[in-house]
Amino acid sequence: MGTSGTSKKESMNHTFCVTSQQVRELFYQQLQLWPLVKERYEVLQQVHIKTLHIDDFNIKVQFNPSRILSAGAKVDRESLLKRKCFLCPENLPAEQIRLPFKEDYLILCNPYPIFPEHFTIASQKHIAQEISTHLNDFLVLAYCLKDFSLFYNGPKSGASAPDHMHFQVVTRNVMPIDIEIDTLSDKQIRLLINEDQSELYQLTNYLRNGFVIKATTAESALSLFQTVYNAFDSLPEESEPKMNVFGCYKKDKWIITIIPRRQHRPSQFFAEGDAHILSSPGAADIGGLYITPREEDFEKITPDILRDIYSQVCFSHDEIDRISTRIVKKE
Ligand SMILES: [Zn+2]
Repeated sequence: MGTSGTSKKESMNHTFCVTSQQVRELFYQQLQLWPLVKERYEVLQQVHIKTLHIDDFNIKVQFNPSRILSAGAKVDRESLLKRKCFLCPENLPAEQIRLPFKEDYLILCNPYPIFPEHFTIASQKHIAQEISTHLNDFLVLAYCLKDFSLFYNGPKSGASAPDHMHFQVVTRNVMPIDIEIDTLSDKQIRLLINEDQSELYQLTNYLRNGFVIKATTAESALSLFQTVYNAFDSLPEESEPKMNVFGCYKKDKWIITIIPRRQHRPSQFFAEGDAHILSSPGAADIGGLYITPREEDFEKITPDILRDIYSQVCFSHDEIDRISTRIVKKE
């Protein structure tokens, strides 16, 4: 990707040439061609949503029965080896339209939506889900698809295909995080690093603590991302530190939010009886669009339960402070 300046950005746009308009056309063509998926998007318009207020933030809880398989999906190594990978091009349904992005990816309409427009951007090759080597592609996508929000689920942080590299592109401002990032108070966001072309902030007292990069060049975004990534702890058996990553390009800047994860599923997932909640939080849930595939869980969930779940799966204030100290010391 280019070093800086408008000319590089223009060439980026020209070279990769996928636009929000093209993606929307893909969406409408796909719905015409695939009645079953069209129906799922129509049903989604009717699903129940309740908004819960926690501290200064909103969490939208969505009752979405079509996500039941994905919420309960087995994502351990053995189960993955046994199943046919649903993102590999040879296994895609015949009805699925494929819009190429660069030479490496296919843009696909997500057949099990949780957003009014929901796309999966899947590698054309069956390669592992890994952010550090693909962040550049994520930035290019965000730049090309300025109308949308993007996110990434780490292999142990909500990806239902942890063995197949993919991003998701969704309608902007459906997840509360899209809006909240711009309106946080000094108590919730603090500047850690201020460079010519980029800034790094720490999110604190935000239920889902993490880091925000604002950058005018892709290089400076990549560099700050690497700084944050290197400061995270990674367990020996993990290919990368657990995290969800959000991205968009607005007002001539990339905004990349990184939320490190302590674990994928909360204790409620494993509990029995009334304490059980079928929930496997991925990026959307962390972004404040909390998915409950079962109606009883939708009814049952309260601000206290959500606060407890976020405290289990995300970093505490002290934990995120510790990472920040490491980052600032390295500078
Ligand atoms: Zn695959």
